[in-house]
Amino acid sequence: MLTNFEDITTDVTEYEFNVVMQVVRELLERRPKGKHNAITASQLVRKIQSEHVFRDGYKFDAIRVRKIISTLRLTGTLPCICSHSRGYYVAKTIDEMNDTVESLRQRIRQQIRVADAMEKQRDEWIDEPVCKCNTKSLFHQPFCPMNQNVW
Ligand SMILES: [Zn+2]
Repeated sequence: MLTNFEDITTDVTEYEFNVVMQVVRELLERRPKGKHNAITASQLVRKIQSEHVFRDGYKFDAIRVRKIISTLRLTGTLPCICSHSRGYYVAKTIDEMNDTVESLRQRIRQQIRVADAMEKQRDEWIDEPVCKCNTKSLFHQPFCPMNQNVW
């Protein structure tokens, strides 16, 4: 669909790629650089909505902004979009780039720890009987006459 970017833009539609992404890029580009000028996804939505009318039926919200910024970063359409807890901004210093990269990597490591923990819980869970009648299926219990109120 999106020539040359098939692998990295699966989260945005063609309309977002061709139109909305450029609007978000222009807004970030014209703001002063540096972490003190960060703008949150919701602030960005409100600001853009006050300046632009998108096509009928297009729902522009903070979730779409995050996907679009992700695509701007992946394609390098606007280089050096940094972020911290108070929003997005274009880097003014290399330290801001380093902080953003480190914070993204920390988040990934944390997510991996959570996934590992959940995987472990899953493996422990299915090895135990889940129903009073000793049936091991997770999907059996709600329908078992022996277990009307227990879980
Ligand atoms: Zn049962």
